[in-house]
Amino acid sequence: MTLFKLSLKELQDLFTRGEVTALEIARAFLLRMSQVEFKVKAFITQTDRETLLAQAEAIDKDLASWRKTMPFMAMPLAIKDNICTDGVRTTCGSVMLEHFAPPYDSTVIATLRTHRYLLLGKTNLDEFAMGSSTEHSAFGPTRNPWNLKCIPGGSSGGSAAAVAADECVAALGSDTGGSIRQPAACCGVVGLKPTYGRVSRYGLVAFASSLDQIGPITKTVQDSAILLNALAGPDPLDSTSADQPVPDFTKAVKKKDVKKLKLGVPKEYFTEGLDSEVEQAVRSAIDEFKNLGGEVREVSLPSTEWAIATYYVIATAEASSNLARYDGVKYGFRSKEKQNLLEMYQRTRAEGFGSEVKRRIMLGTYVLSAGYYDAYYGKAQAVRTLIRREFESVFQDVDLLVTPTMPTPAFHLGEKLQDPLQMYLSDIYTISASLAGIPAISLPCGYSQLGLPIGLQIMGRPFEEDKVLRAASAYEQATDWRKKRPVIR
Ligand code: GLN
Repeated sequence: MTLFKLSLKELQDLFTRGEVTALEIARAFLLRMSQVEFKVKAFITQTDRETLLAQAEAIDKDLASWRKTMPFMAMPLAIKDNICTDGVRTTCGSVMLEHFAPPYDSTVIATLRTHRYLLLGKTNLDEFAMGSSTEHSAFGPTRNPWNLKCIPGGSSGGSAAAVAADECVAALGSDTGGSIRQPAACCGVVGLKPTYGRVSRYGLVAFASSLDQIGPITKTVQDSAILLNALAGPDPLDSTSADQPVPDFTKAVKKKDVKKLKLGVPKEYFTEGLDSEVEQAVRSAIDEFKNLGGEVREVSLPSTEWAIATYYVIATAEASSNLARYDGVKYGFRSKEKQNLLEMYQRTRAEGFGSEVKRRIMLGTYVLSAGYYDAYYGKAQAVRTLIRREFESVFQDVDLLVTPTMPTPAFHLGEKLQDPLQMYLSDIYTISASLAGIPAISLPCGYSQLGLPIGLQIMGRPFEEDKVLRAASAYEQATDWRKKRPVIR
């Protein structure tokens, strides 16, 4: 049996039944990584072979006396490299944190660690999660397993590529404006951004704190529900985590239909700039929802056109403040060339940050500066409220919204690197859900003529991930897209 091809659910079942050992799992994934990682480059840091095998052996040994497994025991996961892992370096794709090993675990990792999961490694990302292609990483780009000349999306490109290439059974990403969903779409896997506050952000290195969320990147919708079950819930260490009941999300994916669900199709998501192959695939998916018993209707979200501008004011403003802590004093990189304190700050930040991060810090500092604050930051906050209210209003009439995830399939490496605005436009369909704080998933709904995956996005009301997962699962089960796997060459 080829263990690395299995879904999380399948691997969990085998392990729980005692049909496979932790050591066999660890060996299978180490082998897979040795076959494809040099092509895909999904990881910044890989757990070394001896450490991983020793962990797996210890699990098998303890299990002999416990006879009881936990859901993530021995499950080989890849973690985006902006999620803190105690003692394992967490670089954020930046020279600034190249040698930074956090002295503590993020809450999501602490949870998985109590389950005794296997950490395969930390995955590549755009520096501090700022980007849409994983090209803005100080460690070089990750490649799309479906076509190594193409980007895997971003910023969680390493996590999405690792899942698509079967280098891990599932992964964690983070999403501020699309960074879980957009790479999932590019790599033909499932990516879920939970409702803001659903999953603790404690130990997630902050980019834009009012938008950041951690979420699962998986091979199937069911796997997404399984991971969300483990991650969701309030956390005393994150005051923005929500004290909301956490249902068993795997129940939602068992319903195989969307009967009685009302699905809205926002017309503003099907305008200029949408690739015709993507449009066709998404429209067929919408027809499939009708076949499955869903009630589909067109709706309108008029402020959609302001979403990108609003996001790039708010996210950069928050980033400029969050990134002020990297000053070379307490931790992280410090420039060697310095005559005095001021020069130390300046050189540290000049040498430690890449160009996209600097661009964001400058933009954010500008929109927050005296005299411009009201015109930019204040206005963006007002538009954000407008966007959220429009969602609230359409969600009075429909349960879910169905749209493309990304306007085009994955583009070529280098294609948009010199043109930040074009790069920003790849998030045009994902950013609104982030601004509104609502849950949204991306799953495969077809392939372009060149064989690149196309993603379908389903958004839902706050804390209604169960409905989002139910619709996604019904569609996934009714179609065959998940069976197609990339040939890495
Ligand atoms: N691509 C968007 C940006 O560059 C979103 C990034 C993210 O979600 N982390 O900001």
